[in-house]
Amino acid sequence: MKTIGVDLDDVLLNFNDAFIEFHNLKYGSSYNRSDLTTFHYMKNQWGIDIQESLKRLDDFYRSEHHIKSLPVDGSVDAMTELLKNNVIHIVTASPEEFKENILAWLNVHFGDKFKNIHFIRKTIFDGKAKNKRDICKELNIEVFIDDAIHNAEDIISGNIPVILLDTPWNQGYEGSLITRAYSWADVTEVLKKP
Ligand SMILES: [Mg+2]
Repeated sequence: MKTIGVDLDDVLLNFNDAFIEFHNLKYGSSYNRSDLTTFHYMKNQWGIDIQESLKRLDDFYRSEHHIKSLPVDGSVDAMTELLKNNVIHIVTASPEEFKENILAWLNVHFGDKFKNIHFIRKTIFDGKAKNKRDICKELNIEVFIDDAIHNAEDIISGNIPVILLDTPWNQGYEGSLITRAYSWADVTEVLKKP
């Protein structure tokens, strides 16, 4: 049995695919997932300032597109297996103001499997979230699954290993406590290792 931490967006909930579909419809853009080669792609790649980026994200969270996001491929099966023998904590920087929608989404796709969900940011506009590392320490998390380089760096700074789910926005990042996984099946294989 392990105590495992899991990120929400783009690890369980396929956030970026749903967001770019929303963005393409609303703003007439034609982006693809493979174009998103940095985490803060609106600012870094699309040239949209932070206030406008936050507004677009806020609009997305309030739209049907967010609640209709799909689970990340393989995540439902993997979680069903992992929850049998492990303690799982979701630790997310998704804004807590949308907690009800997020819990409803989790309930649709994962049933009532998750008992432990930790929001580390109150609203979309309140800036920086609390460190995931500190929450991981408090919860005695032994390994964390995330897609973002900045979260991985934060968590490994607390000497907690990270399984990095491969995405276009985390290419080229490596580290001694980082294991890159190419799918959820791959994640579960890594977790079986002692
Ligand atoms: Mg994420």
